[in-house]
Amino acid sequence: MKIESFFYQHIRNKHIFLFPMNVNYYCECNPSSKLACFDLDSTLIIPKSGHVFPVDKNDWRPLYPNVGVVLQQLVQKNYIIAIFTNQLKQTEFTVHNIAEKIRNVMEFFQINTESYCYFISYGNNGYRKPMTGMYDLFIKCLQLDSINHSLSFYCGDAAGRPAAKGLKKDHSYVDWAFAQNIGLLFKLPEEVFYQPCDNRPINHVKFNPTIGTKPFPHKDFDVFMYGTDKPKVVIMVGAPASGKSTLAIFLAEKYGLTIFSKDVNKTKFDKLVNEATKAKTSMIIDNTNPVRQGIQFPGYDKLIVFHDIPRELCMHLNSYRTQIEPLKPLISSVVYNVYFGKLVIPDENEMDDLTVIRLGPEHMTLPGNKEFQYFY
Ligand SMILES: [Mg+2]
Repeated sequence: MKIESFFYQHIRNKHIFLFPMNVNYYCECNPSSKLACFDLDSTLIIPKSGHVFPVDKNDWRPLYPNVGVVLQQLVQKNYIIAIFTNQLKQTEFTVHNIAEKIRNVMEFFQINTESYCYFISYGNNGYRKPMTGMYDLFIKCLQLDSINHSLSFYCGDAAGRPAAKGLKKDHSYVDWAFAQNIGLLFKLPEEVFYQPCDNRPINHVKFNPTIGTKPFPHKDFDVFMYGTDKPKVVIMVGAPASGKSTLAIFLAEKYGLTIFSKDVNKTKFDKLVNEATKAKTSMIIDNTNPVRQGIQFPGYDKLIVFHDIPRELCMHLNSYRTQIEPLKPLISSVVYNVYFGKLVIPDENEMDDLTVIRLGPEHMTLPGNKEFQYFY
C-alpha cells in the first residue's frame, strides 16, 4: 500500500508546524521503515554570516560540503528523512520563514518533497525537544507499522560535550536526550557526514529520583484538622510542580476545604480569599508562597504544608508533566530561580496558631512509567 500524501498542517495554538508529510513509502516492500532524523541548526546548516544565530531566512550554508550528497544517499536507501527543530523565538506568523528556509535548504540539497518532512516546535511545551511530542506526531501521521531500530537514527549537535581546544562546549544535551527518549540511535553530525570526530565525551545528567521511603503523614493532617472547632487554613509552600495541587485536591476532598489559587482564580484571588475569611470558610491557599509576609487569618488554625522538594526533582516533574500533556506549558527556569531565591523556610513562630508539616521527596509516590524515566 502506498501512502499517497499527508497534507500541510499548521496546528494553531499547539506551537508546532509540520510539512509536507507527503512522504512516499511502501508498506509491502518496506514493512519496517528506516528513519533518518535530523536536527536543523548546526547539524544540516549553519549561518553563513558567521553569527551564532541566523540574521534572516537566507542566512545559511551547509554545515559540510557533502551534506546534500549524504542525504541523497539516504533517500536512495529508502530512508524517510525527518527534521525536528526547536525554534522558541518564532511565533505563528514568523514560523513560516523557518518553513520556507527548510524547503529552500532541502531543494538546495536536491531532496524532493516526497522524501522528507519537517517539524518546527516554537512553543515551550511537550512538543519541544527533548520532550517527544514532535516525534510522536510524526509516527502517528505516517502510520508506520514498525520502525527498523537497528538502522534508524537521530542526528544532532547538542550532545552535552565539554569545551576542548578550539571547540566550544555544546549549548545543551537536548539532541542526545531526544534520541534517548524516542528510542533511536544517536549520531553526531560528524558521524553521519563522515567528518573527523574529536572524541569529546557526551556529558549528560541521568536524573535518579529518590524513591519514597516514608509513608505520607496522614495522622499529622488528622491531628490538625480535627484538633479544634476553629476554621482551618492550609497554606501550601512549594515550587511549581512540587505536588502542591495534587495534595490540595486530596485534602479538599478529605476534609471539605475550598481551594483558592492565583493560577485558577487570577485577579479575583484576593477578593475571594477575603470573602472566605470573613465567612470563616475552611480553605487551602494553593500558591507557591515562598514568603508569607502579611498573611493573616485571624481566628483560624493555620497549617503550612512545606513541599521541601529539590529543584532538580521539581524541574524533572515539570518536564514530565509537559511530556504527558504536551500543551501544558513548561515552567521557565526563571520561575524556579525566583522561588528558590526568595524562599524562607517555614517556621511555626512566623504566625500565631501555626502548624508546619514538611513533605520531602521521601514522602512522594513518583510515577513508574517510561516517560518519567526520560532525560529532560
Ligand atoms: Mg542544533
